[in-house]
Amino acid sequence: MRYQSTRGNSTQQSFLEILLGGLAPDGGLYLPTQYPQVTSAQLDSWRGLPYADLAYEVLSLYCDDIPESDLRTLLRKTYTDQVYCNGRSQDNAKDITPLHWLGEEGGTRIGLLSLSNGPTLAFKDMAMQLLGNLFEYTLKRAGQKLNILGATSGDTGSAAEYAMRGKEGVKVFMLSPRGKMSAFQSAQMYSLQDPNIFNLAVAGVFDDCQDIVKAVSNDHAFKANNQIGTVNSINWGRVVAQVVYYFQGYLLATKSSAEKVSFTVPSGNFGNICAGHIARMMGLPIKHLVAATNENDVLDEFFRTGVYRARKSAETLHTSSPSMDISKASNFERFVFDLLSQDGKATAEKFKQVDEAGGFDISQEVIFKEMGKYGFQSGRSTHQNRLDTIRNIYQQYGTMIDTHTADGVKVAREHLQAGIPMIVLETALPVKFEETIEEALGRPAECPPAFKDIKSLPQYVENIDADINQVKDFITAHLN
Ligand SMILES: *Cc1c(COP(=O)(O)O)cnc(C)c1O
Repeated sequence: MRYQSTRGNSTQQSFLEILLGGLAPDGGLYLPTQYPQVTSAQLDSWRGLPYADLAYEVLSLYCDDIPESDLRTLLRKTYTDQVYCNGRSQDNAKDITPLHWLGEEGGTRIGLLSLSNGPTLAFKDMAMQLLGNLFEYTLKRAGQKLNILGATSGDTGSAAEYAMRGKEGVKVFMLSPRGKMSAFQSAQMYSLQDPNIFNLAVAGVFDDCQDIVKAVSNDHAFKANNQIGTVNSINWGRVVAQVVYYFQGYLLATKSSAEKVSFTVPSGNFGNICAGHIARMMGLPIKHLVAATNENDVLDEFFRTGVYRARKSAETLHTSSPSMDISKASNFERFVFDLLSQDGKATAEKFKQVDEAGGFDISQEVIFKEMGKYGFQSGRSTHQNRLDTIRNIYQQYGTMIDTHTADGVKVAREHLQAGIPMIVLETALPVKFEETIEEALGRPAECPPAFKDIKSLPQYVENIDADINQVKDFITAHLN
């Protein structure tokens, strides 16, 4: 399997060659040169496989430069019910991403696919845990080391730290805005004691942290001399790992591959739903992929109108589903590339317009009129919608959901179709956003037993100014 850049101007590479990198040299994102096709007979033969083995069937189509037995071992080590054990129910923990039916609404079954049972209680663990094992594997084989530098406002940083902790050859330097994360999120990150994890609390906001990471990444000499890498959401390994749970959700919801299902995906950077798009392109019988946004509705606007308008930082709202507070959707270019019939030049042109004019408009183009064939639909949700949905789902079904999942459920309900089960991806557990749960329900969020005392554990964090040189000095003093 070869990978090409969405901007068509980089040489094709193999899976392991692109694994540790970010953008392609021409500024594009990597995608396979073709999507492997899965027949309905194949799909039916995957029913009942343990998650790790289903992951093997899907991922072996994409990573053919890892020997089969190594890949299987890595997947079995990653997707265990000891790692993914924090869900609301232990009965079906072996499914790794269990499907929890809520009930029937207007004759349509609606359910939650639990993606948040991993170590940090959010769906990013699904891919990041695999990335941790893949990084360790490939670094060891190549005799290399890697220093991961990242910025986080919560979910990404903790998922990366829990995936890389204790991994040979990897160190993590994670910048977070001092005092700006929830108590639960800070406790999750700062309580880690692993010697290869460094938490740097920056005196500033998230944008300051991100600016420092960008500045360091643009210092090519520093980057190369110190083996600096990132694990941001455009990493192909993260996207492809997420394809697996669309197959799992489908298989758990159906009895034969003649059936169709729809998925609703709480969306920010378009990474999660992009994996759904890829699963559908591989032949998984998905009727609709519904993108649910919060008030930061770049994606909803695009799917409704054909106008893609990236927002400025000042226009980006801080909401109660903060992991979806984005100004532009960094993985969206992957879908645009497919929409433009995989024409790299045309894709480069569109994203040049994003850089220069803040967006593009395809509302009058044939590709927009024909976009229905990709199955996308969309909707948006507000803080009040989240509160109402959290309350309503709790009262009606006795299930507590988090704010991001609530955005999903709100939008899913607007797109139910008779006879097509609707699966909403549960992207985090409620305890991560306990302030809003308290506001909606007047009671505390449920907390998995393993996390009861997390806020009273000792915390390890270095305070640092929002100053690129201080960050560089810290890194060089603690390098791999
Ligand atoms: C990251 C995140 C999202 C958004 O996912 P994208 O892949 O960026 O679209 C949604 N919900 C939660 C809880 C997240 O952490």
